[in-house]
Amino acid sequence: MKFCQKKTLVTGKKKVPRAYVVAALPTRTISAQVMNIMDRVWALKLLAPNIKCFAWRLIRRAIATGARAGNLTNKISKSCAHCNLVENDAHLFFHCNFARAVWFSAKTPLCTSMLPSEQDGVQEILAAIINRNTPESVLLRIMTTLWFIWKARNDFRFGRKK
Ligand SMILES: [Zn+2]
Repeated sequence: MKFCQKKTLVTGKKKVPRAYVVAALPTRTISAQVMNIMDRVWALKLLAPNIKCFAWRLIRRAIATGARAGNLTNKISKSCAHCNLVENDAHLFFHCNFARAVWFSAKTPLCTSMLPSEQDGVQEILAAIINRNTPESVLLRIMTTLWFIWKARNDFRFGRKK
């Protein structure tokens, strides 16, 4: 399944309104608050399309973290390349020392040790740091920061940069 446009998803060959897809996933539900965040992210004119797609994949728990990809094959390590703990979304983007340093050195520092340790996805964390009053500029910075953490993780994990 891939994200097609704001209001539809492509499942196989058939376009399905997003609401039906979300409703059809009882064990992987996305809260109304997080769907609202996604709608706001999608509407950000200054955010690059590839980062919007990344945000969608992150919210849908579709990022190939070590934990997620390692569940599919034993050829992929479930461990974080920085610290060897299990690399799930929450660890990779918020709780690993690398991510903690990134957030703590941001323009508006974020102390991630106060955030939930989710096992699958980062929906609780996003709901904790983004609300209806979060300005667009901050939302833009959060999504861009997440994307750069993901990019840095891939560069490090696959040996492109040290
Ligand atoms: Zn780590």
